[in-house]
Amino acid sequence: MKIVLLGPPGAGKGTQAAMLVTAFNIPQISTGDMLRAAVQDQSPMGIKAKESMDSGALVSDDVVVGIVRERLQQDDCERGFILDGFPRTQPQADALKHVLAGLDKELDSVISLQVETEALVERLTGRRTCADCGKGYHLRYDPPASDGSCLSCGGQLIQRDDDVEETIRNRMQVYHQQTAPLEDYYTKEGLLVSVDGMGEINSVRDQISTALQAV
Ligand code: ADP
Ligand code: ADP
Ligand code: ZN
Repeated sequence: MKIVLLGPPGAGKGTQAAMLVTAFNIPQISTGDMLRAAVQDQSPMGIKAKESMDSGALVSDDVVVGIVRERLQQDDCERGFILDGFPRTQPQADALKHVLAGLDKELDSVISLQVETEALVERLTGRRTCADCGKGYHLRYDPPASDGSCLSCGGQLIQRDDDVEETIRNRMQVYHQQTAPLEDYYTKEGLLVSVDGMGEINSVRDQISTALQAV
């Protein structure tokens, strides 16, 4: 199964991608996670990307496409993958098509999660991530252990630097300007499936699995 998860910041892409990893036993490819790892390592690419990420702008297409191209060539992507947060611009979508064609592959489905703006802001301000294993939480909707630690590994939870109100508003704007047009792009390709992302996490998961059964 070769899937793209599309949706604004906070729509639930990472949460649903983690569930699809378990269901299909295919890797999650999150460009946000890979960029944050590069920032943490202080690699030249990470140092350059950090400025854009902190302001809520997109990192350049060249950099992101390069990361994804390399990742898709790895053996564990042979049976499929879940792209989470990529593509985010039309040039990235064109590049993805080109890279996949070179590997004799094509996408099966693009799942677009529909969530209202106010719910997105609430989700992002309450989002926390385990510093050790990366598992995602929400203080209210997907809470950690009662002492605030990670349920999987006992690690400490952290809040992302860009999950603060002003940056969140910028990211929403960037989404509407640069990423939302991909809904039309993938509708024309016959790949887009819109899923109501406003329900509970498990209900969204069920809708996605129903949609994927039709693929
Ligand atoms: P979100 O949870 O808001 O969807 P991500 O973790 O996917 O955020 O991305 C965080 C930041 O990393 C983005 O605001 C952007 O700066 C950068 N980024 C991630 N994916 C891409 C991409 N495909 N193209 C450009 N920038 C990206
Ligand atoms: P994205 O990867 O699209 O930015 P996440 O999967 O990180 O979004 O979800 C953003 C926040 O919202 C997280 O704190 C997550 O626990 C929470 N969340 C995800 N899906 C739902 C949902 N269906 N209802 C309520 N909260 C959710
Ligand atoms: Zn953990």
